[in-house]
Amino acid sequence: MTIDAAQVEAVIRKVLSSLPSEAPAANATEAGDGVFADMASAVDAAQKAAAAYRRSSMAERRRYVAAVRETMLKPEHLDYMSAQAVIETGMGDVAHKYLKNKFAAENTPGVEDLETSAWSGDDGLTTVEYSAYGVIGAITPTTNPTETITCNSIGMLAAGNAVVFSPHPRAKQLSVWQVRELNRALRAAGAPDNLIVTVAEPSIEATNAMIEHPAVKMLVATGGPGIVKTVLSSGKKAIGAGAGNPPVVVDTTADLEHAAKCIVDGASFDNNLPCTAEKECIAVDAIADLLKFNMVKAGAYEATADEVTRLEQLVLNDLHTGPKTNWVGKPAAEILRAIGVEPPVGVRLIIAEVGSDHPFVVHELMMPILGIVRVPDVLTAIDLAVELEHGNRHTAVMHSRDVKMLTRMGREIQTTIFVKNGPSFTGLGIGGEGYCTFTIAGPTGEGLTRTRDFARIRRCVLVDDLNVR
Ligand code: NAD
Repeated sequence: MTIDAAQVEAVIRKVLSSLPSEAPAANATEAGDGVFADMASAVDAAQKAAAAYRRSSMAERRRYVAAVRETMLKPEHLDYMSAQAVIETGMGDVAHKYLKNKFAAENTPGVEDLETSAWSGDDGLTTVEYSAYGVIGAITPTTNPTETITCNSIGMLAAGNAVVFSPHPRAKQLSVWQVRELNRALRAAGAPDNLIVTVAEPSIEATNAMIEHPAVKMLVATGGPGIVKTVLSSGKKAIGAGAGNPPVVVDTTADLEHAAKCIVDGASFDNNLPCTAEKECIAVDAIADLLKFNMVKAGAYEATADEVTRLEQLVLNDLHTGPKTNWVGKPAAEILRAIGVEPPVGVRLIIAEVGSDHPFVVHELMMPILGIVRVPDVLTAIDLAVELEHGNRHTAVMHSRDVKMLTRMGREIQTTIFVKNGPSFTGLGIGGEGYCTFTIAGPTGEGLTRTRDFARIRRCVLVDDLNVR
């Protein structure tokens, strides 16, 4: 499916007209609501829940997963999560968060992803099944706080696990609310209490306690390089879904008007918070001016050299090695106003032509500022894209009609997601084919994680019998 501007606008109008001021359910603590004062109690409760869950049938599992989807898709919950995430974290765009929340609840794979393999022969019957780890510890980011909890809850529960969430402290109120709401829905569906738990005051200390707790058998970190390294050093089975710096390459064969619109749509999506969003553009010289012209037509503002200097001072940290956190995920108009530029109506993205070593293209800024580097030819563009992706193996985009060059870039860059001739969010299944996930594991190789990634593979052997051929 494709998302056009009218659909996005309709969602924006709907969400903005109904911005909730209060959580749509009481936030008081009640037994079995999954929220605990300390991590040891949370993990203990999840362990008991996992033991009870082992005795549930697959039909019951399906029902619980359906209950998670259903509660997260309630219009008042979608509105609340989308608006509150922007309010609490100070980042992102309400209408785009609404789309992300909806896609996560609708399109994350469930129990059907667990396919059994079997061998039968003279020696009997052997099955290989996906089985639960027990308790999974999941660490979630500020950039997609609710989407990740929804997506991980569906996949991890579908695989038969209980899950302990360690949300980012900057998204704690909303994450705690969400865990309560999920438990309410699960309880109403007849699930064991505390299949999804967290602590009332998420912190780095609580996360570390969760990582070290012996009952937590698997760790899934969705976040930056620090937390990915931490879980991979834990000595436990871990999935690391880490940072990206997705380049978009445009060559002379591309449909430039389409490419420009796709890049503006992708790089401005949720104010550039997604790890998959275009973070730098590499354009072949012959088409670079026309591409920029079309990007401005599609809602970008091109910064002058003087404005680029002011942007650097505003959004980069002192050493120019990354962004200042308080500008991450802010709207383009707010950034422009802060450097003294009156934003054009409807501006979504700031573009700036810079050199290939400029911090705007080297570092993951996660804000709607897109550095554009001009190169002489497509081979140089692909080489530079590989360099700027830094071996994250995350996401890359190319606009081209040259199948040989599309193939070459795909082979050279080796990213988990490679989008051709579309905006980056199509790689998440939003407007592109394929299921949805908000945990993209480049470092550990699971790719776009799904139910089976949260399960252990177990072999069950019956000797001599049940081969009926
Ligand atoms: P972050 O790394 O600051 O935080 C992520 C989570 O890790 C939070 O819950 C945080 O509390 C925890 N954390 C961080 N350092 C920790 C430490 N030393 N000890 C214990 N806990 C720690 O990331 P963020 O700002 O919330 O999210 C943005 C980053 O995440 C970007 O780099 C983005 O690319 C990446 N990301 C990746 C994916 C993916 O699927 N690959 C998805 C979303 C975000």
